[in-house]
Amino acid sequence: MSDLTKLSAFELSQQLQAGSVSAEEVTNAHLDRIEELDKKVQSFLHIDKTGALKQAKEVDSKRKEKQKLSKLAGVPLALKDVLTQKDVPTTCGSKILEGWLPPYDSTVVKNLKNAGIVILGKTNMDEFAMGSSTENSAYFSTKNPWDLTKIPGGSSGGSSAAVSAFFAPLSIGTDTGGSIRQPAAVTGIVGAKPTYGGVSRYGLVAFASSLDQAGPFARTVLDCAMLHEVMAGHDPKDSTSINQRVPDVVAAAQMQDVKGMKIGYIKELNGKGWQPGVINRFNESIELLKSMGAEVKEISLPHSIYALATYYLIAPSEASSNLARFDGMRYGLRVDDGNSSAEEVMNKTREKGFGKEVKRRIMIGTYALSSGYYDAYYAQAQKVRALIAQDLTDAFKEVDVLISPTSPTTAWGLGERVNDPMAMYLADLATLPPSLAGIPAMSVPIGLADEDKLPVGLQIIAPFMQDDRMYRVGGAVEASLKSKWNGLLIDQIPTLGGAS
Ligand code: GLN
Repeated sequence: MSDLTKLSAFELSQQLQAGSVSAEEVTNAHLDRIEELDKKVQSFLHIDKTGALKQAKEVDSKRKEKQKLSKLAGVPLALKDVLTQKDVPTTCGSKILEGWLPPYDSTVVKNLKNAGIVILGKTNMDEFAMGSSTENSAYFSTKNPWDLTKIPGGSSGGSSAAVSAFFAPLSIGTDTGGSIRQPAAVTGIVGAKPTYGGVSRYGLVAFASSLDQAGPFARTVLDCAMLHEVMAGHDPKDSTSINQRVPDVVAAAQMQDVKGMKIGYIKELNGKGWQPGVINRFNESIELLKSMGAEVKEISLPHSIYALATYYLIAPSEASSNLARFDGMRYGLRVDDGNSSAEEVMNKTREKGFGKEVKRRIMIGTYALSSGYYDAYYAQAQKVRALIAQDLTDAFKEVDVLISPTSPTTAWGLGERVNDPMAMYLADLATLPPSLAGIPAMSVPIGLADEDKLPVGLQIIAPFMQDDRMYRVGGAVEASLKSKWNGLLIDQIPTLGGAS
């Protein structure tokens, strides 16, 4: 394994700034590793070798000309295939968008390009971000680099696998109900969902607009914060974008101190039905936080038990409306025998272009929004959503941040839950309450479960626009575990089938 692919984004940025390595060398090192090993992991849907090398060379020539560059200029990144990048295929893991070349950059991509970050390619995902395992991709399933027979989480499983397999130090995911935090947890890396409205959704293909949020993945909390800083900020092209200063997440990630902080662990997100090895690691992190001088106590979020039912009404309802645009007329696939009416073309295109889970969500959403059922389902779910958010607001009167395990279990076997939607949905139990409330939350690795030696994540939840607080806690937990383990959790990853 090339030394360059072992480095964090921060370490790479230091070497790049010092001129001891070029962006082209760094990019080539990562492309070589992808070429050698992505056959096993299958994290990428599209590798943009030419585009990446072109971007890298541009950074190198700007550096030579002594132009001012951002800290992450020349550092490679993998991008979830749900964000548009001009002239690079964007499929959202769906056959319905196969062959579509977006005519514009999403704001996230524009921000990455302005920072000189090198985009290596587009990563695999559950179709339209619906799922928790990346098995709903219409193309193939991505494997977990810790154990190639296990899922890498979802829906951003291609992005989590790419970072945990050392194909890129950074990647981008999107999180509607947990799709950054859960894949981060099960692949042993860091992932953050910013405050809703903190990162622009312009050019992020919509699943559930009131919940969707793009965010960073990395192997360290500091790297994650550095990428967060680049992605975030006000964008007039997104009406829900927040016009406020971005919290200083980078400074917070470096504080490494939680003395005097008040931390609440969530009563309802723990205990019966949760994997014992996950609970063991979680309980140890409570003790760790106490030993670092934080005040830790139990907090109840009584309505959080309804989060799953609420989310699985609201998200499909919004999806059924958002996905109406895929009609065979505007983008991608069009099934037309030349003899059909517009309606028949739409039907046939959707029948062929959408997968099973997407169809299921459209059906649920259309039903929940239909006139006879709207009040009983959608409107009721919105009321419960308000109660869940209120519980969180009340909790933050007592504590600075909340914590829980990120996922009830570690990574499960490929194929195990794919025909059991309820079992799949249960993976989101802990990640849904902050999603419904629009507040920031992240996952940091806290060790391996006793039973299966697979990674466990700690979820840290902060109040609206206080994203810096979760980075402060995450950075402190990471620093203390790093000295205990003599390295990061990801350094314990078994090599991919013996390759080094
Ligand atoms: N697993 C959840 C779902 O299937 C969340 C997905 C996401 O956050 N994009 O809807």
